[in-house]
This record gives sequence, structure tokens and C-alpha cells, in this order.
Amino acid sequence: MKVGVLGGGQLARMLALAGHPLGVSCVILDPAWDACANMVAGQVVGAYDNSAALDDFAHLVPVATYEFENLPVESVARVADQKRVYPSIDALAAAQDRLHEKTLFRELSIDTPAYVAVDSLADLEKAVTEIGVPSILKTRRLGYDGKGQFVLQPDTNLEEVWRATGGVPCIVEAFVPFVREISILAVRAQNGDCRFYPVTENTHTDGILRLSIPQSDDPKQAQAERSARRLLDRLHYVGVLALELFDTGDGLVANEMAPRVHNSGHWTIEGAVTSQFENHLRAVLGLPLGSCELVHGAVAMVNCIGKVPEAESVLGITGAHLHVYGKASRPGRKVGHMTICGPDAATIAHSLAELQAMASDCDV
Ligand code: AMP
Repeated sequence: MKVGVLGGGQLARMLALAGHPLGVSCVILDPAWDACANMVAGQVVGAYDNSAALDDFAHLVPVATYEFENLPVESVARVADQKRVYPSIDALAAAQDRLHEKTLFRELSIDTPAYVAVDSLADLEKAVTEIGVPSILKTRRLGYDGKGQFVLQPDTNLEEVWRATGGVPCIVEAFVPFVREISILAVRAQNGDCRFYPVTENTHTDGILRLSIPQSDDPKQAQAERSARRLLDRLHYVGVLALELFDTGDGLVANEMAPRVHNSGHWTIEGAVTSQFENHLRAVLGLPLGSCELVHGAVAMVNCIGKVPEAESVLGITGAHLHVYGKASRPGRKVGHMTICGPDAATIAHSLAELQAMASDCDV
């Protein structure tokens, strides 16, 4: 069995690794000849908007998926004209544009922060009057890990901020005073079967995910599942979907969704009966889904940003696992992650603190 993956980063790499035991091989399309997934997958080297490369890729695989959402929709449509592509182009298109995404959430009665579309400086001035401050100006497209975001305070010079966006279409959304950030990863099979992983608590610094801790019996699990299910059903979704939510203490407010496997689900490799990567492949291939249940009393995932700590130090910690993506070190870049598993939170607390300290030393 073969699966094509548009994009050849760490998510494609972990998809390919999950495929190997099932006899599934992945073929990636990526413009970089040294894409980090190509050690474990076949590759077509080509730009995402190169028709010949897209056709070569489509020729090689019976079914395809994608590992990031900033792909040109026309490119994915070109592959979809030739072979099946999951998740649907509708899901990709909705996730690419913050305005469309939030409009979809509202249509499905999924709460969002108050937001207004902004296409000019005049719109921005009006939006700030309407939404108030603090609020956040976000580019509608191509924003990730906090990029393309500007916090608006009472003394913010709106003209400067507007110039910094390059004058592209944006939204202004209200700043949510959340008590925690969570995500729910859901997976839907081709026959409509839906499964949900335990809600995961996420900690970001500078807009980049640092720490993910899945919660057993989270009080907001049912609400998060209801929201994710509405999206899965509306989009006739196939594969893994991540929904990021702010917990305000009173309820949940949706931030964004990712129509793909997600960084906040990396803990599932060691921490769940079936990893997000395997379940995504199962869905895309029309196979039955696996259980999303936790296999340990406590699990946590720490991202390696910038540089990966010494393997010897990480693996010297009982219950720790290291994933190295094979990417060059660079400030702010996700180059690996570490997972710690144990019987309960108290038992892993010290080891988790050690892993966090190692990650923070490498974050240069
Ligand atoms: P995003 O790229 O939209 O996921 O934003 C990156 C991070 O910025 C989020 O994980 C939050 O920590 C923060 N953030 C984004 N939007 C808001 C908001 N409306 N209110 C408060 N914090 C936010």
C-alpha cells in the first residue's frame, strides 16, 4: 500500500514511520531534496505549484494526504483530479483562511472570540473601536506559530502595525483571557466512524508549542468532542483533525483547526493505543480506526526548539523517549521532541522538569 504526502517535514516523516509496520510506504512531494521525511519515504522533488511534479507525484500513489495547510488549493485540486485526497479540499480551504475558519465555527455553533475582517487601515481603526483592546490583529492567511500576529494595546500605533502586515487581508479578534490552552485531536474514518483522543493541555511560548500533556477524564472532554464532531461531519472529513481551544474557565472558545496530524498529538506515539499518525493512515486508506485511549497513567511531550539535547542525557531518564527529526539546528525551529511516560503525574514530575530544562538550554 502507498500513500502520498504533500510536504516532507517531520509530520510526513512520522506518518511514514507509522506506515512501515503496516506495510504502507509513503511518497512525499517537497521542493527540498533534503526534506527530513525522505530518509524514510520516497520523494518527488518539486515545488508545490509545479504541475509536472504534482502529476509525477499523483502517478505514483493511489491516495494522498498533506502535512501542512499552506499548500496552494489548486495544487491539491490537481492531485485530487487524478487520485483520492484526504482530508477534503473543503477542509484545507477553510483552515487556510482565518476568516473562513471562524465563520465555519460560528455556523456550527462553536464559540469563537469576537472577530472582524480588516482590509484597510480604516477598517483596522474601526475594528479596534468595535472589539476594544487588548486584541490581536492576525493575517488571514499564512500565519502559523504566532507569525503574522500583532497584539493591539491602547498605545499601539495602528498605522505602523498595519504597515507591518504588508496591508494583506486580516482579522482583528478579541484577546481571550484563557486559563489554559487545550487541543482535541479527532479522527474520522471513511465509513463515518469518529474517535477522539483525550484533550491535551498545551503551553506555548512566543507562539510556539513547548509542552503538551494529555488529560485523562478532562471536565471539558465532552464539549471539545462535540465541537470537533460537528466539524468532522460538516466537512465529510477523513483523517486526523486538530482543534485548538481556549478554556476560559466558563467554557471553550475555538482558536483554530488544523486539517492534519498535529504537534500537540505527538505524545500519542508512545502514549496512546494507536498513534495519531497510524490512525491518519488508517483513515486515508479506508481501514478500521484504532483506539485513542491512553496507555499510561501520565504522559507529557516536550518540544525541542532550536537544537536537540544530547541523546545520552534524554535517554538516561527512565520512561523518556527521543524523536530527532534530522533537521539542521536553527533558532525557533522544531527539530525534535521528547516524551515521558509513567504511572502517574507525581512519578513523572521530576523527569518532566529535567526534560524541560534540557529543552530550554537548547532553545537558543
Ligand atoms: P495561533 O497562531 O492563532 O494559534 O496563535 C498562537 C498563540 O497565540 C496561541 O496559541 C495563543 O497562545 C495566542 N493567541 C492567539 N489568539 C489569541 C487570542 N484571541 N487571545 C489570547 N491569546 C491568543
